[in-house]
Amino acid sequence: MTSHTTRFAPSPTGYLHLGHVVSAMHARAHAGVSGRFLIRIEDIDAQRCTPELSTAVLDDLAWLGFVSEGPIIKQSDHLPRYRALLDGLRAKGLIYPCGCTRAEIAAHSTQRAPDGSLVYPGTCRHQPVSADRVPAWRLDMARALDAIGGEPGWHEEVRGRIVGDAAAFGDVVLGRRDNGVSYHLCVTQDDAMQGIDLVTRGTDLFESTAVHRVLQELLGYPEPAYAHHALLFGADGKKLSKRDGAEAVRNLRECGTMPKQVLALARAAFTQAGMYADR
Ligand code: GLU
Repeated sequence: MTSHTTRFAPSPTGYLHLGHVVSAMHARAHAGVSGRFLIRIEDIDAQRCTPELSTAVLDDLAWLGFVSEGPIIKQSDHLPRYRALLDGLRAKGLIYPCGCTRAEIAAHSTQRAPDGSLVYPGTCRHQPVSADRVPAWRLDMARALDAIGGEPGWHEEVRGRIVGDAAAFGDVVLGRRDNGVSYHLCVTQDDAMQGIDLVTRGTDLFESTAVHRVLQELLGYPEPAYAHHALLFGADGKKLSKRDGAEAVRNLRECGTMPKQVLALARAAFTQAGMYADR
């Protein structure tokens, strides 16, 4: 098996659950014998990610035997570094300020992006934002695609060469108005900075890769390969999340379940989910 630098990058919006464990196992397995498995905490959302939850997630991972083979990055410690990237994109005229509220976007948007979000109708692309509004910063996707010569592709482990559809996401937010950064921006920066050459994650993020590939090209970062894993679903048919308390590693721990048993549970649930790998 080839070796890679991979990462498990949870957002600590709740306790670690079996879906996370599958993701961590997937990343570690893909690192191979002489590769590196890294852990990164994606906690830029200060409302939803608390320091207590970050600590709990890291503690559960350690209890399960997941060791980061390099420094653990906490994105909240590096906000100025991500914001600096926006300065470069701003200087090139590739991002613009947007003062629209959610309600205004909902009133004017006519399309949904592949991730289910509303496609920005472009209202602020060519007009100034009124001074009483703190702006978000959006990527001018058409300009960005022009600057890099069209949609970049990527290699996916199972599906082979993929042609992206970043245009379908429209002008995504790169700098949120509350913290000046965004998931797309931070994940792109950190994957490059940590030398991740194989990005492993759930199929729910498959389409977003198109946006990350655009950013990698704009920022001059190398192209990693990608491997997606099937998602675990709760009894209600929805993706496992922090709402599924029964699946939280913390609860299993408190009931006396041993790490090996938790890993076996995750493996069994994953084998079952694999049957529905394409959602
Ligand atoms: N932090 C993201 C999440 O927990 C994953 C990001 C990624 O793997 O690209 O859903």
